[in-house]
Amino acid sequence: MKIIILGSGIYSGTPKPLCDCENCSRARKYPQYKRTRFSMYIPKIKALIDPSPDLHYHLERLNMPVKHVFITHAHFDHIGGLPELQIFKHIKLYAHAKTLEVAEYLQKRFVGESRWNWEYFPLEFNRWYDFGFKVYHFKVAHQPIEVAGGFIIQIGNKKIVITGDTGPEILEDKKTLEEISNADLLVAEMTHKHSIPKTHLGVEDAIKLAQKVRAKKTVFVHISHTNYTHEELEEKAKEYLIARDFMHLEI
Ligand SMILES: [Zn+2]
Ligand SMILES: [Zn+2]
Ligand SMILES: [Zn+2]
Repeated sequence: MKIIILGSGIYSGTPKPLCDCENCSRARKYPQYKRTRFSMYIPKIKALIDPSPDLHYHLERLNMPVKHVFITHAHFDHIGGLPELQIFKHIKLYAHAKTLEVAEYLQKRFVGESRWNWEYFPLEFNRWYDFGFKVYHFKVAHQPIEVAGGFIIQIGNKKIVITGDTGPEILEDKKTLEEISNADLLVAEMTHKHSIPKTHLGVEDAIKLAQKVRAKKTVFVHISHTNYTHEELEEKAKEYLIARDFMHLEI
């Protein structure tokens, strides 16, 4: 099964406008180091995870239809591109009820309602749902937002885990670790060099999470321009993959 990482960066992207750090300078010179805001796509079920503010660029380059939309949380870098989905008359959106409130507002304000048949499916945390594929939404610590979560999406016998933005507290969350273990693919955030409690994972803790989950394949995403360079991250996380925009994965 193919998975496509559409965007591998944080809210500011890389390069961040006006920033002269090593990663931003390199990305201005060499486009392969650019990171658009995090998003991914599962062709098998036409599912988009997190409509980022770069969604128009992602969809234009992807050129594939979207039927299902999963939203990890309502930070703008994960939901801000939602109005771009107006090219699809019928989609199904899955997230926590609080996150869906923001999605519905964006639809009402920027898309309209009468000609769009968008269906909203609020998901409670720590419960399996069956929509033809199976979905489990788990809560993560990600201040200052009140509600943020990750997803397990099970398609046939393939189990895909997406952490979304999460603090290192996920390493102590026994119930979630049990559910997400032994996935076929772990898509984990690795925002900074060092973890920020209740906010984001650093390099060391992201690797610790991968070691605990023991997925067949692990890819690190949501990488800040302030993190190490792509090559340094590859060196530090040798057994795992460091995402680039439009990276194609086979699971
Ligand atoms: Zn984010
Ligand atoms: Zn920078
Ligand atoms: Zn966030």
